[in-house]
Amino acid sequence: MRIAVLSDIHANYHALEAVLASVDAEGVDETWCLGDTVGYGPRPNRCCAIVRERSALCLAGNHDLAVIGTLSVDEFNGDAAAAVRWTQGVLEDDARAFLTGLEPAATREGVELFHGSPLDPVWDYVLSEAAAFLSFKATTAPLLLVGHSHLPLAISWNGTDLRGGLAGIGEVDLSEGRWLLNPGSVGQPRGNDPRAAWLLIDDHARRATFLRVPYSIERTQAEIRERRLPEGLAARLALGE
Ligand code: ZN
Repeated sequence: MRIAVLSDIHANYHALEAVLASVDAEGVDETWCLGDTVGYGPRPNRCCAIVRERSALCLAGNHDLAVIGTLSVDEFNGDAAAAVRWTQGVLEDDARAFLTGLEPAATREGVELFHGSPLDPVWDYVLSEAAAFLSFKATTAPLLLVGHSHLPLAISWNGTDLRGGLAGIGEVDLSEGRWLLNPGSVGQPRGNDPRAAWLLIDDHARRATFLRVPYSIERTQAEIRERRLPEGLAARLALGE
C-alpha cells in the first residue's frame, strides 16, 4: 500500500492544495494526517473539510485540541494563542464536529501514530536521540509516525543503535530495523525550507520518500493579513521557520 502522510497543515489552504496535487500525481491508496489541521493559519474551515474528505485517518494535534476547548489557550505562546482565539471565533459547526472526533494517537497494522510522541501524544517533541530512543522503548510497531515539530525526521533503531536524524528530500530504505518518521509540516514548514513537506510510504517496497512542494506563500500571507492574524505568522512562512 502507498500512503501519503501529512502533518501540521495549520489552516494553510494553498499549501494543502499544492501537497494534495503532488499526492495525486504520485498516486496513493490512503492519506493519513498526524494532526494540527488548524491553528496559526487563515483557512481552518476549508482545511478541515478537505482533510475530512481526503484522509482515511486523522489525529488531533495540540492546536486542534485548544481550538475546541479541550486544552487551555494559556498553554500557548503569544502568536499561537492569538490564532487559537481567532480560530475559535470563526470555526463552523462541521469543522468543530470533525475536530471533536479526533484522537492524538492511533494504530494501524505495523504502525503506531502520534501527533507528539508515544510518551505524550499531544505535547512531547521528538527532536533528540534521547527522545527517539524513549519512543522506540515505549512501543513495539516496526514503524512510528510523529508530527508536531514541523521538522522532517528519519531515525532507525536496530535494537542496539540509533541512526539518522533530520531528513532531507529523497528516499529512505525501511527494510532493516524499526523506524521513526516525521513528514515535516504542510502549512508551516520549518528547517529553513519554506516549501510544504509531505511523506510517501510504500509498505511493500519498505521505502519512504520525503517530498517538498512549492506553493503560493504570498496568497496565504495575504489571507493572514486580511484576517488580522499576527504578522509574525505571515513572515515566518517565507522563511520556513
Ligand atoms: Zn503544529
